[in-house]
Amino acid sequence: MPAASLQALNQRIVACELCPRLRAYCAEVARVRRRAYADWEYWGRPVPSFGDPDARVLVLGLAPGAHGSNRTGRPFTGDGSGDFLYPVLHEAGFASQPNAVSRDDGMKLTGLQITAVVRCAPPANKPAPEELRNCAPWLDQEIGLLRNLAVVVCLGRIAFDGLLAHVQRTAAPGAATLRRSAFVFAHGAEYTLPSGLAVIASYHPSLQNTNTGKLTRPMLLAVFRRARQLAGLA
Ligand code: SF4
Repeated sequence: MPAASLQALNQRIVACELCPRLRAYCAEVARVRRRAYADWEYWGRPVPSFGDPDARVLVLGLAPGAHGSNRTGRPFTGDGSGDFLYPVLHEAGFASQPNAVSRDDGMKLTGLQITAVVRCAPPANKPAPEELRNCAPWLDQEIGLLRNLAVVVCLGRIAFDGLLAHVQRTAAPGAATLRRSAFVFAHGAEYTLPSGLAVIASYHPSLQNTNTGKLTRPMLLAVFRRARQLAGLA
């Protein structure tokens, strides 16, 4: 039975054990820990979404980082990707502060929710196709519960493909079908789904992209300013 609220959904997600490989990996990372975080008690469980239940904008990422979200228990919190993303969300007016270090750092998001296509950290940041499929129903439920949603920002190609797969899975009988070939991943590309939801594709703020200059701060800021505009937020 679908969860009745985002809070109830997150409780179920945190208890999910559907992917043995990922659950074992997250638990092992949490047990061994990185030397720099030796004093941390790692979260080590599926990472729930974070943000504003009345969000107009949904940020869809790939998966938790082994020593980032898998350590802190909050999306993009405590790693290089988050150190790049949250200051941009702050400047774009979505985040109350630029720094995200832990679940109790006081961060508040307004008008925006952050989630991922896979909720458990995968080895080498590469979820298996079966793991993506296992986690997909959580995304379907989450999007269904975000009643005010107007825009989805997909961080990376896997998130973009995950959103399109969600649209195909959840299409109502007789509804307009999605012509998949019309949706091409490119940074800054914008589309409108048959439901009217706007989609913006963006490169993922991984260190691989940000350290090489493939994704710069002005590029990501432009994406979130555009998301604000499409969402009708002042
Ligand atoms: S990746 Fe998703 S489906 Fe798999 S165990 Fe984690 S929360 Fe469950």
